Amino acid sequence: MNPQRPEDGRRLHFLQALGIGPIWQRRDVSSPDTAGQTAAPTRIADAAKTSMARVRDATEEPMVAVALPPRATAMHSAWDEALPASLPPATGPRPQQPVSSDAEIALMDWSTLQTAVAQCTRCSLCRTRQHTVFGSGDAKARWLFVGEGPGRTEDQQGLPFVGPAGELLNNLLAAIGLERTENTFIANVVKCRPTDAEGHDRAPTAEESAACRPYLDRQIALLKPTTIVALGKVAAVTLLKSDPKAPLATLRGTVHDLSGIPLVVTYHPAYLLRKPLDKSKSWRDLCLATDAYRNFGKLPI
Ligand code: URA
Repeated sequence: MNPQRPEDGRRLHFLQALGIGPIWQRRDVSSPDTAGQTAAPTRIADAAKTSMARVRDATEEPMVAVALPPRATAMHSAWDEALPASLPPATGPRPQQPVSSDAEIALMDWSTLQTAVAQCTRCSLCRTRQHTVFGSGDAKARWLFVGEGPGRTEDQQGLPFVGPAGELLNNLLAAIGLERTENTFIANVVKCRPTDAEGHDRAPTAEESAACRPYLDRQIALLKPTTIVALGKVAAVTLLKSDPKAPLATLRGTVHDLSGIPLVVTYHPAYLLRKPLDKSKSWRDLCLATDAYRNFGKLPI
């Protein structure tokens, strides 16, 4: 990475904002000013090597709600105060709407799918939602990031990752040269906010994830991404249909093959807000995903 180059300078800025550093240059990428020189061992290359050897972490991301309960942090309060108290339900439960079958969803085009999600009553989360959260970004994106489910702020706005975790996700995207609106789509396993008895965010149940799964499958089929990043354990376990009891560390550090699409698992941004020291591991995962993106179609997954 050459800080003099505008795109590297920008990336450096985001990495510093993430608390990740120092930045080393890849051994196999030579910039004009270093061409011909022998490069030092690189952190990125080492990271890819380590992650291919399957990193086992001492600290595990638990399978818990990803959004923080109201006013759990000062940052959360600041976001809360910037928002209107509540919005009228935009989609709400519509019991009279016919429930789309898996087979019908599998044939929908993008706009029919959006309407089906907005009117969905496939599980009981429809009863408490303010808005469905279909996902957002570039409908022609080659990068797909999948989170767990909407939290309070997302439910209020109908958009994914707009709370505190979303701000960190924006920085993670920027660190690998991505923006939410270009070549990137952000979706969730479930499209409605799961809440507990006290009205706090919680992780979706396996049944709720299964009820919503056809929508995510159809989003993937229509988008045809060339790299998927699963943000956290719920997304990883749901997409890979893996054992929910297995620690997240057993899924990280490998490029998985999701029906021909490379899939990399990393920490959920809300977890990283609680455990900032793991941001460097997340950076390694994103380097692995970037390699998979670059090699798509050239190397076997
Ligand atoms: N957490 C998620 O998993 N998804 C969101 O959209 C917001 C927070």
